[in-house]
Parts: sequence; structure tokens; C-alpha cells
Amino acid sequence: MCKKYDTVIGLEIHAELSTKTKAFCTCDASFGGDPNTHICPVCTGQPGALPVINHAAVEYAMRAGLALNCDINRYTRFDRKNYFYPDLPKAYQISQLDLPLCINGSLELSTGTVVRIHQIHLEEDAGKMVHDDYHGESWADYNRCSVPLIEIVTEPDIKSSEEAAEFVSKIALYLKYLNVCDAKMQEGSIRADVNVSLKPAGSSVLGDRAEIKNLNSFRSIQRAIESEIARQTEILEGGGKVVQETRRFDDATGTTSSLRSKENANDYRYFPEPDILAITFTEEDIEKAKSEIPLLPHQRVERYTKEYGLTDEDARVITLEKYLSDFYDRTVEIYPQYKNVANLFLTEIMRRVKDTDSEEVPISPKDFAKVVQMADKNTVNRNDAKSIIRIMFEEGGDPEEIAKANGFIVVEDTAAIAEVIDKLFAERPDLIEDYKNGKTNVFGFFMGQANRALTGKATPMSIKAYLEKKFSEL
Ligand SMILES: [Zn+2]
Repeated sequence: MCKKYDTVIGLEIHAELSTKTKAFCTCDASFGGDPNTHICPVCTGQPGALPVINHAAVEYAMRAGLALNCDINRYTRFDRKNYFYPDLPKAYQISQLDLPLCINGSLELSTGTVVRIHQIHLEEDAGKMVHDDYHGESWADYNRCSVPLIEIVTEPDIKSSEEAAEFVSKIALYLKYLNVCDAKMQEGSIRADVNVSLKPAGSSVLGDRAEIKNLNSFRSIQRAIESEIARQTEILEGGGKVVQETRRFDDATGTTSSLRSKENANDYRYFPEPDILAITFTEEDIEKAKSEIPLLPHQRVERYTKEYGLTDEDARVITLEKYLSDFYDRTVEIYPQYKNVANLFLTEIMRRVKDTDSEEVPISPKDFAKVVQMADKNTVNRNDAKSIIRIMFEEGGDPEEIAKANGFIVVEDTAAIAEVIDKLFAERPDLIEDYKNGKTNVFGFFMGQANRALTGKATPMSIKAYLEKKFSEL
């Protein structure tokens, strides 16, 4: 079927920066806390209280911009964005309008689409309103007030709901790798506003767009866009006109509804923030920030495949979560058998952590390295190595102690090796004859039989060595 309309999507992603303190005061910026316990005169806008810029927030935002291929404005300043809502006690938000910190970035998606980033600016978060419909009361919690945020604004380069979801998840992963945002969507540290419009297929004229506000999961971003495409298609098919407006998405019904029209849009009356000095950067500042950017997921994939010899798929799976990739990196620093570490890591570690919410592996890279090493040296066999990992996950403990306590240590019983193999040779003179006549594959038969008879008493390596000696003496 010929597609009648092209979908045009632009995103505005808000990401809370994980600095210790807030953007313009020294209040604790961590998530949670009893309502209104992380507040002070500055972040609640008391008369006479003056903001002081948190340099860590500027550094974090700059790091995000550089990783997303942005140019850094050498001269940047803050503006006041005025609006009245009870979650904003100052009645203005400190933001950036015409001189944002980062401009002209880009990020490539797996579809090959390059999404241009118009700008990344620094601003402060608002508080949270809790509405009690039953009692008809509303409560304000200002703990989130003035937590630093970056807003990443894209050009309308995204062509589908899948691309939009991939863009947001890729941004979330990058910010985690950069240590600038914990990217916990369930705690609201990443939210997205989505602009959607349709245009006749192939046309260069953009249609009127609807903006859907405050989406806080990859799934709701995708669903909201799909429902919006369906709604706009129906309007256009019926000969109607899409109205430019702001809409909200209802997770329960999977549909969007109008919040306010363009005529009722806020006039933010931006003006330069008089209480905070403009910031200027030198070339050295920017070079220093560049040098501090850690390896990003795609760069780690490259290292794992090119330097460590892992497959593309394995490398990609390990880097899907920063804490897992960090764990793998720390393990191979201790024990640089890249593939052997990856094999046990991908099966035994990933399997156990993938269904948990905690972003932590409950065992240490040092202990894990020890288990891989024990398996490599045949001190324990591979199945027992897996059991050791299971026990460490469930009960904790030192891998060597666990191996000893459970009888996993393979004892090299040389007398038993000789006895078993000599007996096998005596029992099968026919196969020995075959071997002498050039059927060398009988080696495998003896190896299998001896391994089975000697489980727990000898390693395959020493069984093989004894067998090779026996055959060479024939
Ligand atoms: Zn404060």
C-alpha cells in the first residue's frame, strides 16, 4: 500500500542531572525525602534570597552536549521563564532561551536516521503537586524545586514512534554512561514532550503539530505517538484540519486529549536572569571537558569486539546496561581472559540480574574473576563453577571456600587415572588395533569413557595427557 502521509516527530527530553546539590542552592538534590525537607529560601523563592550557580550542573550539561556532538556556546547565560502555577513558588523558572549551553548536536539511530539536536539547555525543575480528589485538597512538595535539568531539543527529524522510543532510550543510556543522570524513568528523572504532525508523503511543507506533554516511559512515548498519528490521519482523511495545540496522553485509554490550544498558550515573558552572571568558556575549559568523557556504549562495543575478540552480539548485550558493562570491565582488569569471562558473565551473571530492578551485581568482580579462573584451570569443573556463582548470589561467601565446602575442588588422583585408563585399554584391544591401523578417532571414545569414570577425581587436561602418553607408547 502506498503511504499517504509522512510522520514528522520532534522531541524535547527533560533529564534531571544527578548532582549532589540543586542548581542554584546547596539543598540536597537526591530523589525522595519527606515532603519539603530539601528546601531553603533560595529554591522556594523567598524575597532577598539569591541564587548561586552549581558548577557541577554546568559541567554535567556540557559533558552531555559534547557526547551528543554539540557545539558549546563560549558565552552562555540564564533567563527567567515566567509562569504561575503552585508547583513553582518563585513564579518563574531559571532557564536558557537564546544563548543555551549546547547547540547543533546529532545522534544516529539504528535505522540510519540522523536526528539533529537543536540545543541542550540547562534549567531547574519545578516542585510536585499531589491532588487529593476525595478531600478536594492539593498539596505541594518543593523537594524537586530547582533540581538541575537539561532539556534536549531535537529538530523534527524522527519518522516513527519506534524511532522516537529508540532515540529516548539511547539518550537515557548515554546519560547513564556519562554519569550525569540516573535515567530512572519511574522516578521522573527523564520525561519527554513529543511534537507530532503529518504531511502529504514526500512534501516538504510541515503540517500543524500537536504537542503531547510529560511522557515518562518508553512505552507511553510510543503509544502516545501512535494514537496521535491515528487521530491526525482520521482528521485529514475526513477533510479536516489538525489544530496546533498541547495535548495530554492517558495511559489507561491509550489516547490523547486536548489540554490547551495555541490561542491559550502561555506567554512566558522571558527576560535575562539578573541574579546570575553569564558564563564564558575558554578553549581549555572545553578541551578539559572533552578529555573527561568516558567511553560511550558504542565505543565499548568497538573495544569488546576489536580488542577483546567478543562477537558483536555479545558486546552489544553487555553494554545495554552501564552497571553490567562496568562489572565486566572491572572483572577483565583483574583477569584478562576476555572471552572466558564473557561466557560465564553472559550466562550466569546476566541471567540472575536481568529480572531485578536493582542496578547492582550482588557479587564482586574480584570474586567473579576468581571463579572464571578456577574453571579455566580446571580446579573446578564448569558446572560446579556455575553452582559456585549461584551460591554466591544466594548466600554470599568466598568462591574458594564455597568450592571446598561443597566438594567441588577437582583432586588430581594420578593413580586413579592410570588404573581407569589401563583397564579401558585391556577391555578394548579391538579399538587399540583400529588405532594402530590409522583410525585415530578412537581417542575420543577413550577420552569420553575416562572422563565419565573419573568425574571429580581428575581434570580432563590430565586425563588427556595420560591418554596421549599411552597412545604414543603403542
Ligand atoms: Zn534550596
